[in-house]
Amino acid sequence: MNIETPVLIVGGGPVGLGLALDLGWRGVGCLLVDELERDGYRTHPRANLINSRTMEFCRRWGVAARVKEVGTPPGYPHTAMYLTGMRGHLIARIERPAHGGGKAIAFTPEPPQRCNQIWFDPVLRERAEGFSSVALRYRWRFDSFAQDEAGVTSEVTDLAKGETHTIRSQFLAACCGGRSPIRRLLGIAASEGEVLGAPMSVYFRAKNLWDYHDKGKGVLHFIVGPTGVWATLNSLNGGDLWRVTLHGGAKAHGAPESVDHKDILKRIVGCEFPYELISISPWVRRKLVTAAYRHGRVFLAGDCAHQNTPTGGYGMNTGMGDAVDLGWKLAAALKGWGGPALLDSYDAERRPVALRNVEEATRNFQLRSFAAIPELMEASAAGEAQRRKLGDEILANTGRELLSDGIAMGYRYEGSPVVCADGSAPPPSSVTEYVQTSFPGARAPHAILRDGRSTLDCFGKSFVLLRLGRDAPAVSPIEQAAGRRAVPLATVSLDEPEACAIYERKLVLVRPDGHVAWRGDALPQADPLIAQATGWI
Ligand SMILES: Cc1cc2nc3c(=O)[nH]c(=O)nc-3n(C[C@H](O)[C@H](O)[C@H](O)COP(=O)(O)OP(=O)(O)OC[C@H]3O[C@@H](n4cnc5c(N)ncnc54)[C@H](O)[C@@H]3O)c2cc1C
Repeated sequence: MNIETPVLIVGGGPVGLGLALDLGWRGVGCLLVDELERDGYRTHPRANLINSRTMEFCRRWGVAARVKEVGTPPGYPHTAMYLTGMRGHLIARIERPAHGGGKAIAFTPEPPQRCNQIWFDPVLRERAEGFSSVALRYRWRFDSFAQDEAGVTSEVTDLAKGETHTIRSQFLAACCGGRSPIRRLLGIAASEGEVLGAPMSVYFRAKNLWDYHDKGKGVLHFIVGPTGVWATLNSLNGGDLWRVTLHGGAKAHGAPESVDHKDILKRIVGCEFPYELISISPWVRRKLVTAAYRHGRVFLAGDCAHQNTPTGGYGMNTGMGDAVDLGWKLAAALKGWGGPALLDSYDAERRPVALRNVEEATRNFQLRSFAAIPELMEASAAGEAQRRKLGDEILANTGRELLSDGIAMGYRYEGSPVVCADGSAPPPSSVTEYVQTSFPGARAPHAILRDGRSTLDCFGKSFVLLRLGRDAPAVSPIEQAAGRRAVPLATVSLDEPEACAIYERKLVLVRPDGHVAWRGDALPQADPLIAQATGWI
């Protein structure tokens, strides 16, 4: 059968689903294929942390409430602990009261949530398949592609029926994860990147595990030995589902089928407790950012483009940022108002974000090991002194992976060909701190409006030209310039003092992905502004 679709998405993980959802939300047609059954590998838990920026995307798509509903319950603490065992010595405790919605955060209407991919991916899928322009096909394997001036021709196999299909699309989005066949077909070396480790996940069910120790409820428990963290106990649902990551993997613990999980769980918790083993799965920690995200009409996103160790929870969140950056640009190209530089800007904007996040995740991981501290496990004054010293170091250095608002929210597309620099000095950038700014390329700030909405609720479907303050200039020249190029643009006038202050200028042009394209106090040359922001110059 020959099939035509504007965008073929290969991969129904969170990134492919996020892209399908974003395109569907924009009324753009796409076909997503995944070789797995609908839920496939997602029966074994991977990402838990949905950071604030991803939650803001979910809010835009209308699924934020659902993510909160199916994720960790709001009252459950997002506390992280470093300890020698659940009944052992506590080394450091990091509370995160603003995570999960317990306490409001000034810079976002959407606090970080914990919602494992087991539940998160289906939320995206259900929303994506609600759009008539989106088709999802499971048990369809992508086999090959060839591209020409006008489009991409791909071959796929319907595994259930044993039939092959030829799909003709304008664009091909490779969201097929770390083992992407598209990377291979593009000739991107399989050995690209660095292997940092080969851990093992032990997934199990245990009711009221917190009753078996004295440390209280938490989500992340780093189990420390004399030379570093050897296991991590992770709450998946704030209830009965848990995962242990064994950092030594098969090398230290044997093949999955021979892992002595009973002994390991006893060592971690400090006593025997009733549990049901669900699965044991090995995986590979990598450090990888592929050399180019765009190859003609083929775009790489998510784990296909970059991979990092989950220390910090950046992988999927970085991929969701890719999906959102790519979605509106593909829509603009297909609708005819996006110019050639707009598609090029995907690489220019997203690769630097991945390079930063992958580096930071690697740093976090490397800090998990340290020079041997022989007294660390001792119930002695010397042991206590060493634990206090290590705890201080963790709070000063390592702890930042758990409070990385700057990574989640602070990435800026400065230097992008479609961002109009204003000559002002870039604000400082930090891993932990995020300070809202309207600096060109930054995420447009959140402020609460008189009607209770967030400024963020104004963005998404079109460019939005914000007029801030009663003396903001009239903007009809910009509206007319957008009209001449058929660029969707809405003008929104705000006079709330908080919004005016936080946006720093009287006029701010916000892109459909919610990033600032331009800002100023006076009217610019309207035609060049619109042409640059949409990739025509
Ligand atoms: C233990 C662990 C914990 C993690 N924790 C976090 C966290 O807290 N926060 C975070 O942000 N990230 C985390 N991550 C990373 C996160 O899981 C990944 O970054 C994320 O799943 C990548 O999504 P993706 O859609 O790019 O790729 P994937 O989820 O890998 O999806 C790719 C899809 O492509 C399909 N596919 C591949 N080849 C083909 C083909 N030929 N034809 C059709 N379909 C194909 C696959 O079947 C798969 O469904 C964690 C990862 C691990 C292993």
